[in-house]
Amino acid sequence: MGWFTVNKIDDNTYVISENGHWENTNCYLLTGKDSAVLIDSGLGVANIKEEIKKLTDMPVKVITTHAHWDHIGCHKYFNDIYIHEDDSEWIINGLPLPPQAVIKNLTPENFTGSIPPEFDIKSYRVFRSKDIKILKDGDIIDIGRKLRIIHTPGHSPGHICIFDESNGYMFTGDLIYKGTLYAFYPSTDPVKYRESVIKISNTEGIKKVFPGHYDYNQEKDIIKETENAFNEINKKNRLKQGEGIFEFENIKIQI
Ligand SMILES: [Zn+2]
Ligand SMILES: [Zn+2]
Repeated sequence: MGWFTVNKIDDNTYVISENGHWENTNCYLLTGKDSAVLIDSGLGVANIKEEIKKLTDMPVKVITTHAHWDHIGCHKYFNDIYIHEDDSEWIINGLPLPPQAVIKNLTPENFTGSIPPEFDIKSYRVFRSKDIKILKDGDIIDIGRKLRIIHTPGHSPGHICIFDESNGYMFTGDLIYKGTLYAFYPSTDPVKYRESVIKISNTEGIKKVFPGHYDYNQEKDIIKETENAFNEINKKNRLKQGEGIFEFENIKIQI
């Protein structure tokens, strides 16, 4: 069995998951009329492009939910890369993190399945490039299905969700998923995070939620649960960094 697990959501939408690492990162391939979109490219421990070639021969645009290392690992295999302006600095000049901080997430104990034979931790580099295209809130990428860019800062300054309007699919990256949500690093902003969750909650027409980590198959109730959780923390006046981990039914929030 290969490193990636591919599941078909519908005839033109696939989820490509990395279940052999504890983060269970999910990337999504959306095929359109003449081109396709890949939402995030994963950890970069195996080549996702080889998987994509099995699914489509259309040219692929890569849309980045945010510039954290675990979502841009295979960007190096593509040349048509999109990212929100407020995270672009990290792609151009690198993450504000020492390389060891990333590498420690890729040591053998982080893998829950067999490590891909081609992965060499010594040559692992976080993706950087100046050759990127900039996205703004409200932009539409039209591949024969309209993908709306929604700026949702908080987990990172330039985090975006991508709304596939015709199917009602909301791709939420690291803003909303069933697991522990992170707003405790210096570059996060818990107040903006809550506002972004409310922004998604107020978006009309969502039928399904497809997150960047863990179980990809989420009902839209997860949005309301996340909104309620942030509202509860906010009401207690504890929506500030250093307050710790808050536990709810299906999610935790670390701030
Ligand atoms: Zn992240
Ligand atoms: Zn992530």
